Amino acid sequence: GVPCVIDCPLGPALLFVKTSQGKEEGRRFYACSACRDRKDCNFFQWEDEKVSETRLAAREEYNRNHQPPFTHRQNVERYKNFVLLPLSKKVLEFHQWLLPAEWEKHSDHQFLCDISSAQLKSPSQLLYPLENKKTNAQYLFADRSCQFLLDLITGLGFRRVLSVGTPRLHEMIQSKASQEDFRVRSLLLDIDFRYSQFYTEDEFCHYNMFNHYFFGGEAARETCRKFLYQDSGERVIMVTDPPFGGLVEALASSFKKLMAMWKDTEKEGHNNQEMPVFWIFPYFFESRILEFFPSFSMMDYQVDYDNHALYKHGKTGRRQSPVRIFTNLTPSMIVLPVEEGYRFCTICQRYVSSGNQHCEICNSCTSKDGRRWKHCVLCKKCVKPSWFHCKNCNCCALQNHTCEKTDAVCFVCGKAGHKRSTCPSLSHT
Ligand code: SAH
Ligand code: ZN
Ligand code: ZN
Ligand code: ZN
Ligand code: ZN
Repeated sequence: GVPCVIDCPLGPALLFVKTSQGKEEGRRFYACSACRDRKDCNFFQWEDEKVSETRLAAREEYNRNHQPPFTHRQNVERYKNFVLLPLSKKVLEFHQWLLPAEWEKHSDHQFLCDISSAQLKSPSQLLYPLENKKTNAQYLFADRSCQFLLDLITGLGFRRVLSVGTPRLHEMIQSKASQEDFRVRSLLLDIDFRYSQFYTEDEFCHYNMFNHYFFGGEAARETCRKFLYQDSGERVIMVTDPPFGGLVEALASSFKKLMAMWKDTEKEGHNNQEMPVFWIFPYFFESRILEFFPSFSMMDYQVDYDNHALYKHGKTGRRQSPVRIFTNLTPSMIVLPVEEGYRFCTICQRYVSSGNQHCEICNSCTSKDGRRWKHCVLCKKCVKPSWFHCKNCNCCALQNHTCEKTDAVCFVCGKAGHKRSTCPSLSHT
C-alpha cells in the first residue's frame, strides 16, 4: 500500500544491516533507498531507535525544502507556454525552463538559448547529465543500441513499453510516435524529475525504482496501472536500465511489484505468464539477477553507451561493453544482428557473440564477456582465457593472483593461510 511515512525526499527508506567483523548478527538501520552517499541524503535511523517529535518535525521540514520548485502539473503548463515562445526566447537554465519573466532572477547563471524543436524532442541530450552524482548516474544508450532495442521490441510485436530509467528509449519512441505507421507507446518512470518539463502526466511518472515509490501518489500509480492494461491485445514489455551501483535486491523487489501490477490488470492472470521484461545490467550480476528471477536468461548482446567514458568503443576499434540484456522471453526469439558478428547456436537455441564457442563438455556457449573461454577439467567448467588453474586455491584464477587467504587455521596441519581442502600436506600423501 501507500506508505504513510515518507522518510526522506526520495520516499520511504530501506532497511539495511550493518555487520561488523566476526559478528553474526548486525544492527539494523534505515537509510535512503537511492543515495548511498550520505552527502546526498543524510537520512539515517537505527531500527530500534525512538525518534523525537522535534526530529520528526525537522525531517518533515527538510523534506519540504527538498521538493522540486514546481509540480508536474505546473511544469506541463509551463511547457505549453514555453513552446509558444520564439526561438530566441527559449532558454534553459541547466535543469529548468526559464520563462521570460524569470530571466532577471537567474541572470548570473549559465543558460542555454535558442532551443530548437528538434532539441526539445531529445531531452536526454538537452538536459545536463547528472553523471557526477552516484545516485543519478545517467548513461545514455548509443544510437545504435537504442535503435536495436526498439527494432527488437517492435519486431517482437510489442505495442507498449514501460520505460523504467530508460529516458533515451522513451524519447526515441515518443518522437517516432508523431510519425505515421508507428503505433508504439511508452511511459517513462524515472527519478529525474526534470523530465516532467517535457512530458505530460500520461507520459512520465516521477518514480524511485529502489523502493517502488510513485512521487505522484495514487494518481500516478493509476496512470501506470492503466498503461499496463493490455486492451485489444496491445502487448506490453518493461525495459529497465538501472544504475549499476544499485542494490539488486531492492531493484528486484520493485520490478516484482511492477510485474504484479501488470498481472493484476487482468482477471485471467495472463495464463500464469510473467510480464515480459528486458533488464539491462552488467554480466557479472548474472547470478544475482537469476537468484531473484530464475526465469530470466542473459543475452550476449553488448549494450553500448554514448557518454560512458569506460564502455564506449574508441577510435581504435570497439571496446567491449560488459552490459547485457536479461530477459524472461524465450532466448531464441531475441535475434541479434548478424552484421555485428552475432550468430545462432542451434544447440543452445540462442544468438551468441562471434567469439563465444560452444563447449562440448559444458554443452553450452559459455563465454560471458564475448572472448573465447577455455574449459578447465579440474574446475569442470569454462573459464576466462587469461586464467590458469591454481593448485593452491583449487580453482582457476589470474596467473599473478594472491592465493586465497583465510583467517582461520587449517584443520589438518594447523597452519594459517589455507583451508583444509587445499592443505599442502594433503596433496603430498
Ligand atoms: N541507458 C538509459 C539510461 C540509463 S541511466 C537510456 O539511455 O535511456 C539510469 C537512469 O535511471 C537515469 O535516467 C536515471 O535518472 C534513472 N534513475 C537513477 N536512479 C533511479 C531511481 N532510484 N529510480 C528511478 N530511476 C532512477
Ligand atoms: Zn552453444
Ligand atoms: Zn566448458
Ligand atoms: Zn581450473
Ligand atoms: Zn592460488
